[in-house]
Amino acid sequence: MARGLPKQKPITGVKQVIVVASGKGGVGKSTTAVNLALGLTAVNPSKSVGVLDADVHGPSIPKLMNLKGNPELTDSTKRRAVCLLSMSMGFLVDDAAPIVWRGLMVMSAIEKLLRQVNWGSLDYLVVDMPPGTGDVQLSISQNIPVAGAVIVSTPQDIALLDARRGAEMFKKVNVPVLGLVQNMSVFQCPNCHHQTHIFGSDGARRLAETLGVHFLGDIPLHLNIREMSDRGQPVVVSSPDSPEAEAYKKVAAAV
Ligand code: ADP
Repeated sequence: MARGLPKQKPITGVKQVIVVASGKGGVGKSTTAVNLALGLTAVNPSKSVGVLDADVHGPSIPKLMNLKGNPELTDSTKRRAVCLLSMSMGFLVDDAAPIVWRGLMVMSAIEKLLRQVNWGSLDYLVVDMPPGTGDVQLSISQNIPVAGAVIVSTPQDIALLDARRGAEMFKKVNVPVLGLVQNMSVFQCPNCHHQTHIFGSDGARRLAETLGVHFLGDIPLHLNIREMSDRGQPVVVSSPDSPEAEAYKKVAAAV
């Protein structure tokens, strides 16, 4: 475990930080992070869970959770959607404004989001990382005690290549890889129920085996996931009994 490295300083009030990462953008990392966080509260109702959007250049948590506003970095930054406390650069900048920042500015913003938000008392803080293996991933892994990383990938070779790099990076900085989630694993035609593996089948499962890490589960490619995400109503809360919500809860239970 990365806990206890000399430079690492815990986030006040937060018991476990779980980072959700991917090699590539667009594989469903943020969607998975939000539904995983909600899934954690669904499978452990007594636990409190928060979400931090560390994707400073492309914050999507406000949209995914249908939240707006300009909180200050004080007690009033508590933003609750359903039962989740969340924080994102997206609350602090205009939707259309590009965030044109160099590495150091990004890191300073993330430090603020992590440490100047009153997270209260959280059992889990789920951090939606930017894609790839850059400064942010390294700094978060080195500056705070991270309980583990969940890597999201589609089954496609091009996504798996980068997912592998992500997993290897976490191993290098002593962050335990909790496992791989295979997103968009299969598409079932709503009319004829034929199943198509649009992005290939079982690539992430095989990669998990190769890396010697857990396979946390499959999330189907499903219209409901996309539509509900666009409305800011993640499926775990908007369609809690649907197979797609169950898929996220299964991943949460495996984490
Ligand atoms: P990332 O964070 O990796 O860039 P997002 O979570 O923003 O990816 O997802 C990219 C797009 O794919 C979004 O439009 C999202 O609604 C959609 N999406 C993600 N996962 C699924 C899924 N399992 N089924 C259908 N659409 C999905």
